[in-house]
Amino acid sequence: MARYKDSRCKRCRREGMKLFLKGERCATAKCAYERRSYPPGEHGKERMPKPTGYAIHLREKQKVRSIYGILERQFRGYFEKASRMKGVTGDNLLALLERRLDNVVYRLGFAASRSAARQLIGHRHFTVNGRVVNIPSHIMRPGDEVRVRPKSKEMVPIKDSMEKSKGSERANWLELDAGSLTGRVVSIPTRESINLPINEQLIVELYSK
Ligand code: SF4
Repeated sequence: MARYKDSRCKRCRREGMKLFLKGERCATAKCAYERRSYPPGEHGKERMPKPTGYAIHLREKQKVRSIYGILERQFRGYFEKASRMKGVTGDNLLALLERRLDNVVYRLGFAASRSAARQLIGHRHFTVNGRVVNIPSHIMRPGDEVRVRPKSKEMVPIKDSMEKSKGSERANWLELDAGSLTGRVVSIPTRESINLPINEQLIVELYSK
């Protein structure tokens, strides 16, 4: 499986904001962005020229790819699928990304970050509608149920993540039964329910050029 190889913290520094890619570490003083909030590289500290229109569009797309941990080709595929769907392309794109199994597992609190969720899914710790699914990009539909497998319920990363996410606000398109470690997709996420600092219109404009 192809994946990003550069440092996750460098991605935050490049985008000029915390993207929360490392779970627990992101909330501590060890966060690289807290310590070096300038772009990575030799000239990172130098004053950068004003970005061009293209650069603004490109950075927005790269930021979203980084947040969801998706490579360019797959991201393009999501965009094309979103543009064929009814409704607003930008909203459709975000709704598709949100419904990926790795994101759902992360949003339910079963994993500390999307990358941790991907790893757990790859190791077959979850079922979807009663069947083991080890594909992080699996798209969840309303009514689908994701469950931690019985043999995985005592796993430290899952228990830790559940403990730390207690009391935090849950996405309103998901339902969680913390006792049985089961989550359910209630509806398609709306743009308002996706609380991420994303201007999806810039991505639509970039790909439409
Ligand atoms: Fe980004 Fe988290 Fe690294 Fe901080 S610790 S720079 S938020 S990935």
